[in-house]
Amino acid sequence: MNSRNRPVLLFRLQPANRFSFPVVLNLLERSGLDRFFRIVLAQDIATLQHFVRSQAPGMVLYSFMTPHLPELLPEVEWVRSQRVRQQLLMAGGPHTSGDPLSVLKAGFDYAFVGAAENGLVPLLQDYLQGKLPEEKTVFYASGPVRLDDSFPLNRYLKTFPPLEITRGCHWNCRFCQTAGVKAQHRSLDSIKQYYRELKKRNYHRRISFICPSAFEYASTTPRQLNPAAVEELLSYCKAEGTIFLEYGIFPSEARPNSFSEDMVDLVVRYCSNKKLTIGAQTGSDRLLRRMRRGHTVVQVERACEITARKGLRPLVDIIVGLPEETPDDRHETLRFIKRLAVKYRARNQIHYFLPLSGTPLQQAEPSRLDYRTIDTLRKFQQDGICTGWWEEGIVRSRRIVEIRKRLQDRPLQYRTVSFRGDLPPSFRVQPGTASPSLRAEVES
Ligand code: SF4
Repeated sequence: MNSRNRPVLLFRLQPANRFSFPVVLNLLERSGLDRFFRIVLAQDIATLQHFVRSQAPGMVLYSFMTPHLPELLPEVEWVRSQRVRQQLLMAGGPHTSGDPLSVLKAGFDYAFVGAAENGLVPLLQDYLQGKLPEEKTVFYASGPVRLDDSFPLNRYLKTFPPLEITRGCHWNCRFCQTAGVKAQHRSLDSIKQYYRELKKRNYHRRISFICPSAFEYASTTPRQLNPAAVEELLSYCKAEGTIFLEYGIFPSEARPNSFSEDMVDLVVRYCSNKKLTIGAQTGSDRLLRRMRRGHTVVQVERACEITARKGLRPLVDIIVGLPEETPDDRHETLRFIKRLAVKYRARNQIHYFLPLSGTPLQQAEPSRLDYRTIDTLRKFQQDGICTGWWEEGIVRSRRIVEIRKRLQDRPLQYRTVSFRGDLPPSFRVQPGTASPSLRAEVES
């Protein structure tokens, strides 16, 4: 098929999907399906506009989290007002998986729920064969993901995103979109396979990982750590000549109840990071229980104490404005923030509560910060005790609540389609080769 006749598959690249779209591109490349499209990477709005104005047939893919909804809506509305009928809009990612109907109401044609590995390839095969529904549709992908087969390297993006070593989490924090997804860990064999690819590209000297609870890597149940597996992973990376090796820091963090002297020693011995990120979330034990965090304030302090004593700086994540937060909770949290800074030189990263889709708190209103709290947090910022994303969060949180209310009232007609977890046999092909059966169906 002449490349000009192929439909466009446009990836709307944004900071929010810089780790996920590389995995999707790798998936398409390995299945061979990318050869049936003109792959376009739209890092800016101009590339998207060019595609829409060209009136070429194709599909625009978005992947985003709830906090990015306010910025996306005007763009989606513009595309809908300018596009021709053969130009489709599909959304995936955490927000869509948590609240697919809001995505359809916002203007997308299709909402993809679940892991791309479990359904995107058959969906795009249906698209090429003209089998996708005409009406708005929620596609449900189900089944276990083989994290071992999922890699972020591809021929389209020359980036080296962090490698996801755990997907899902043992814990069920009420505000979190990762909660409720059974934790699955990447094996060391798969990590070695990734290293072989990195070495071919001469990029193995620098690596970091995506892991919601770094010290729980390879653990099968909550509270049961596997330090041997963590050491095996880190010592392997080091032995392979990696110089920049970060662990337990963005895009990972470590839960306070997973800290031990031995675990932090592993980071000190093998890694290059000078900081560790600790998910504390609040300084109120009452709120920690309400949020089902599964740890206490004392455990946060212990984690900070071990971290500081081992020569690393604690970065502590805190959320203010949680639903049900009382003035007493806030007062405790402010004292806690100061205490961590003074005793352990912690830098507190303050966030404001965002009602994320698909979580038990998605309909909850954030609590309003009183002037005393705002003044104190601003003072903490000036003193270098905390960072200040919380002020931006207040505005963002308000806009999310407004948008959600606005979308709720919109009428919607839609259908649903489910995909099985396993790819059809015709897609089990070698990396970089197209499926013969698909080629026959599409090109004949
Ligand atoms: S421990 Fe972290 S990733 Fe896991 S559910 Fe809680 S907030 Fe989410």
